[in-house]
Amino acid sequence: MKLIGELRALLGESGVLTDPADTSAYTKDWKHTVEGSAACVVRPRTAEEVAGVVRLASAAHVSVIPQGGNTGLAAGAIPDPSGTQIVLTLSRMNAIRKLDPVGMTVEVEAGCIVQAVQDAARAAGRILPVAFAAEGSAQIGGIVSTNAGGSNVLRYGMTRQLVLGLEVVRADGTILNGLRHLRKDNAGYDWKQLYIGSEGTLGIVTAVVLRLMPQPKFVVTSLLSVADPRAALDLLKQMQDGIGDVITAFELISPYSISIVEKHFGLKCPVAGGGWMVLLEASASVPGLREGVDEALAKVLESGIATDGTVAESETQAAQIWALRERITEAELKEGKSVKHDVSVPIPSVPEFLREAEEKLRASIPGAKINAFGHLGDGNIHFNVVVPPVTDAKVVNRLVHDIVALHEGSISAEHGIGSYRVDELERYRSESELVLMKQIKNALDPGGILNPGKVNAGSKI
Ligand SMILES: Cc1cc2nc3c(=O)[nH]c(=O)nc-3n(C[C@H](O)[C@H](O)[C@H](O)COP(=O)(O)OP(=O)(O)OC[C@H]3O[C@@H](n4cnc5c(N)ncnc54)[C@H](O)[C@@H]3O)c2cc1C
Repeated sequence: MKLIGELRALLGESGVLTDPADTSAYTKDWKHTVEGSAACVVRPRTAEEVAGVVRLASAAHVSVIPQGGNTGLAAGAIPDPSGTQIVLTLSRMNAIRKLDPVGMTVEVEAGCIVQAVQDAARAAGRILPVAFAAEGSAQIGGIVSTNAGGSNVLRYGMTRQLVLGLEVVRADGTILNGLRHLRKDNAGYDWKQLYIGSEGTLGIVTAVVLRLMPQPKFVVTSLLSVADPRAALDLLKQMQDGIGDVITAFELISPYSISIVEKHFGLKCPVAGGGWMVLLEASASVPGLREGVDEALAKVLESGIATDGTVAESETQAAQIWALRERITEAELKEGKSVKHDVSVPIPSVPEFLREAEEKLRASIPGAKINAFGHLGDGNIHFNVVVPPVTDAKVVNRLVHDIVALHEGSISAEHGIGSYRVDELERYRSESELVLMKQIKNALDPGGILNPGKVNAGSKI
């Protein structure tokens, strides 16, 4: 293939992988449920090389699929089965260019692993507050392109709130440099917002300037049992009233989720009772945090909103509590076939959504087990359903998403649309929103070479 030769001339031999033994890791998604095929995998080292790849691919009418750490849960970074598409991995572009502890910013290349940037920030007394179970593999370009959330959104917002500047390679192969370290910048359209969360369909992120936050000196991690999600919501209200400004995480965990992490990873829930759990974390830099949290917890235990609880007395205990939350997705993989939903509803509607969805599923799919957990403080629940192997996933999706729609929620709170939810996006977003999305795609990628078929298939338009 002529294009492969041109790519080799641009990137060198080691920059272009074609042997299936080398490319197979890039053509399967994290869950290994979607497998595509690639003409090649390219590994550029600079934005100029990324731009060169895009120009060559565009001239040859070949699609480019940007890929970060390949931890996405919507199969957005996987090529289709045709064997004609190019996977472009950012993994060689992994320099932390500049960390400014005074301005509290960090400029990094897109292929930096999230954890590496977190570590660098911590070493400078700052934090990058995006935190989630895949942070050891996910890349900065990936979290920007999916607008990743995680367990600290309640306090610090989604990735979008942390992006100050971007460098992007456009679909025509030009490099758009907006790597500004500014807190305030109202000079014209804020174009970077278009690329954040666009899942590689509008441009390829090559470098990012992120905001950092002060590193809290004190952290209190607790696990509380509650009777049900309604009580968890009461607990959230009570804790927001008491210590709202220091809460960094408020995670809901169902009894089934706890049972599978105990079963598959030998973990032990330190709070007895086997009911719903809330992981609450608070952090601050002024002394007195522990006393404030203890006082607030005493009230909720006394009033019966929480039935039992424990507070971590060491970093090891805090890590043990977090492991119960963070290993749920992996434990679910070991349970067999599961159908995932990453949904959000207005926060007060979460208990009702959970009740209705569970009732409907139990009635329609005998044997279904509900693995519900997630970021209650953001109204975002991972409502995953472990089902018998013969179950049609689309039937389960429809059932759950219809209830989400009744509550005016979203079918993708943080994982994105990828290739999994294209049909669902078309069903649940309005005609006028779909038209606008298609117009944006056509304006920024008229040849349709960037990650085609993902997010916005646009069949309605
Ligand atoms: C165990 C586990 C827990 C998770 N928990 C959370 C969570 O709490 N919150 C959350 O939001 N997500 C979570 N995720 C999902 C996933 O980790 C995030 O979506 C993450 O942001 C993906 O980053 P990545 O580098 O792996 O991207 P990839 O999976 O490689 O790509 C994701 C999408 O972004 C595009 N893309 C990647 N890099 C670029 C780039 N440089 N330029 C343009 N497009 C690009 C791809 O084409 C694809 O569409 C979890 C995943 C796992 C496996």
